[in-house]
Amino acid sequence: MSIRHLVLVLGDQLSHDNPALAGFDPACDRILMVEAPAEATHVWTHKARIALFLSAMRHFAAELAERGWPVDYLRLGEHPHDKLEAAWRAAITQHAPAGVVVCEPGEWRLEQTLKQLGETLGLPVALRPDSHFLASRAAFQRWAGERETLLMEHFYRAMRKHHQVLMDGKEPAGGTWNFDKDNRQAFGRGGPAGLPPAARFAPDAITRAVLASVETHFADHPGSLAHFAWPVTRADALQALTAFIRDRLPGFGAHQDAMWTDEPFLWHSLLAPALNLKLLDPREVIRAAEDAWRSGHAPLAAVEGFIRQILGWREFIRGVYWRDQPGMGEANHFGHTRPLPAWFWTGETRMNCQRQVIRQTLSHGYAHHIQRLMVTGNFALLAELSPQAVAAWFLAVYVDAVEWVELPNVAGMALYANGGRFTSKPYVASGAYIKRMSNYCAGCSYSPEVKTGPRACPVSTFYWDFLDRHADMLAANPRCTLMFKPLARMDAAERAAIRSQAQALGEALDSL
Ligand SMILES: Cc1cc2nc3c(=O)[nH]c(=O)nc-3n(C[C@H](O)[C@H](O)[C@H](O)COP(=O)(O)OP(=O)(O)OC[C@H]3O[C@@H](n4cnc5c(N)ncnc54)[C@H](O)[C@@H]3O)c2cc1C
Ligand code: SF4
Repeated sequence: MSIRHLVLVLGDQLSHDNPALAGFDPACDRILMVEAPAEATHVWTHKARIALFLSAMRHFAAELAERGWPVDYLRLGEHPHDKLEAAWRAAITQHAPAGVVVCEPGEWRLEQTLKQLGETLGLPVALRPDSHFLASRAAFQRWAGERETLLMEHFYRAMRKHHQVLMDGKEPAGGTWNFDKDNRQAFGRGGPAGLPPAARFAPDAITRAVLASVETHFADHPGSLAHFAWPVTRADALQALTAFIRDRLPGFGAHQDAMWTDEPFLWHSLLAPALNLKLLDPREVIRAAEDAWRSGHAPLAAVEGFIRQILGWREFIRGVYWRDQPGMGEANHFGHTRPLPAWFWTGETRMNCQRQVIRQTLSHGYAHHIQRLMVTGNFALLAELSPQAVAAWFLAVYVDAVEWVELPNVAGMALYANGGRFTSKPYVASGAYIKRMSNYCAGCSYSPEVKTGPRACPVSTFYWDFLDRHADMLAANPRCTLMFKPLARMDAAERAAIRSQAQALGEALDSL
């Protein structure tokens, strides 16, 4: 018997407000959810990322079924389809729907597949706009217009005004838009003090079954499941939000950019996975943070710093993804081609900063923003790694990774692979920055101030060589002026020594 709508729910669309579910009629519609192995193998995905998606999907399907809604749920190992598309086609043949309904996906690749599916089968495939975001794709495009270069700060201020977030009438709360100067502190010698524990969630029976299944089906994949404790339901996610606002938001701002050995989470919210799976709505997160300031629970600098990430960066990044795809995935401004060193998958390197961040990534599927941008991302740019290989790694190893947010952060923010479409300069730093913002250098075989010789910090050597080689392009940028002053003081012999050491390091990345 044929049905009206086959409703597809993708793994990162787990909201009861999913627009594809609007108007759902259990008498004539059916939901299809698929655990497709290819989604975990098109990049060599961390076990925890696979487990998070599958566990959250199984919990969500159970909630839909509890409502009495018909759900076809295809579990890993219990169906023959490797790719989502094959499973969709089989379901269309089985149910002969009059149409397919789905919320617009978070990946350009899947959107193309869905559009082609409709065309080849001659079947209406309704891609409903994703109401999760405060700025729709069309609204972002209207804001961006024809401008060549976009700046997040301008977008963020427009969003604050439009949505009346942290505003006192027409003015920003506290009289300023930006508290960055309060929010970039390092820890003192003693490191982080009074750190509240992060909300973690012990695996229930559904999650335990998923963990076992991931260990069976993806045994050779990177990462560990030993610390898996992510929120996998909306109830968990709300609990995580409440705990963050109560315990960690007041301390969020000051040390937002700081890093410390064996402290993976610090005051960060760990809410990105729940947000990206759509277990949380960004509006409720922003409202909860603003309420915490208005009620006197958290300082304005911390709350503004946090809201800027969600209302500003997260929405902006999604806008630029859809504006620049598919070109963003191919972009390679500097023409970098080196493969990833093997230690990106093991953490086995003598560079303590990279070792710390990669080990914690493999243990938890998590690293905070500055670790991604200024440790692994910075190294990848300076060491001339292929942007496509780096993007595949970032998509694989973080539990919060979905392409709409991962790719612009990697290609645009970290690697400048798109030539600065939305960043005013490449984010590059020497070992001195890592020394200032962390205690990593104290436990390292290298020394951040040394640029050549066996003790030289590879990050610093690569950094000075990068500046020297790209001086023509960068020195003209007023935001880079300060970076060039130390380089101008180096004589030709010193520059030549740095160049030759950088070349040697580049040829021996695996042994660093
Ligand atoms: C190279 C690189 C790759 C990244 N890949 C991802 C990714 O795959 N998925 C992802 O969600 N974020 C990504 N980010 C952004 C950011 O690092 C993570 O959102 C953040 O570390 C998640 O941890 P948290 O929830 O504790 O964040 P918090 O520090 O607590 O920040 C609060 C929230 O703000 C949002 N946010 C913060 N920064 C950004 C940003 N630059 N872009 C978009 N949203 C932001 C996130 O939703 C985050 O949960 C990446 C950043 C870089 C530099
Ligand atoms: S010395 Fe260099 S390689 Fe070592 S931790 Fe510091 S920045 Fe990293």
